[in-house]
Amino acid sequence: MYAPSLTQLPVVPRPARDERLSSWLNRLAQLYAMPTNVFLADCGLKRNGAAALEWRLGEGEGAILASRTGMTVEAFRTMTFEKIAPQARLMIAPGNRYVCPGCPAGIHPKRRAFPWNFWCREHNLRLAASGGRNLGEWFPETVLALLDFSAHDGAMRLADWAHGRDEGVPSVPQLLDFLTTRHRKSSPPSLAEQPILSLEARRANHDFLTRPVARQALLIVVPEYDRVAPVLAKPVRAGLLSLAQGSLLQNFALTVGVGRMSTDPVGYAAMVLWASDGEGEHRLRQAIRGWPLALRRRIYGRFQRLNRIEAQASHATGWRSLTNSDSPSLTMRPVISLGSDTGC
Ligand SMILES: [Zn+2]
Repeated sequence: MYAPSLTQLPVVPRPARDERLSSWLNRLAQLYAMPTNVFLADCGLKRNGAAALEWRLGEGEGAILASRTGMTVEAFRTMTFEKIAPQARLMIAPGNRYVCPGCPAGIHPKRRAFPWNFWCREHNLRLAASGGRNLGEWFPETVLALLDFSAHDGAMRLADWAHGRDEGVPSVPQLLDFLTTRHRKSSPPSLAEQPILSLEARRANHDFLTRPVARQALLIVVPEYDRVAPVLAKPVRAGLLSLAQGSLLQNFALTVGVGRMSTDPVGYAAMVLWASDGEGEHRLRQAIRGWPLALRRRIYGRFQRLNRIEAQASHATGWRSLTNSDSPSLTMRPVISLGSDTGC
């Protein structure tokens, strides 16, 4: 029988700034050359695994850790995710979602578990995907600088929501449902989305060229993403899962989308409706049916105005509507300002 020792450990490294409990316990166990579970059992902690402890640290468990390390129970509580709302818990990754080239690999800050944090505050560096790809490989710096404003708005909103203090309307889950709704029917890669291929290569890649790709509202709200994302990797999961399971590029686009829609839900929702086809419009109307009635009225009013402008432009110039075009994005459409909602 293995009796837990209760004396204070001789060496206890300080947790790094914002370090999560599992990360620090893993480092501590490594220092004592033990698997983490064995180390925790040796400390007198019966629950299996550091991950379970960082969800919610029991009173007794905090006291045991405090007596073994000389730290306070409160210090441990701040290293857990107990303040994260149940609905947002699926956003927490088991480790760092993205990497900072300046940070030590073995340290996992709490912020780094969430999909909407794209900067290392310590080093003032953009985080990269775990494979090393950086957002700068997809977007020119000038475009990124503009997107950063909306990403910042979106990240603030998402962080508030995760901590149960967001009262914005539409809610974060409603916005993500909307952004991930298919506004048009799935379609194969358009000419603009296809690489230049020889006839032989086109035959060899027939499956790719004819594979239907889901077209979600996100592509209209964040056309910058539509332009650079690899076509088969454009679709994201539905609703909250989109962020919980997205890649760095997808999550950046979703965070920008949440930021933009938080700032101007009427303008962006109307724009997506305007770019939709019949079935897509029905799905979008379903997606926003839980939004406040007054907001929906303004959206439909703006949508009708966009339709009127389009009809007038079409009448004046003979310009062809997008609904008959094979372009998945808005790049073929005339630019209509998303200024403040004045009418309707
Ligand atoms: Zn860093």
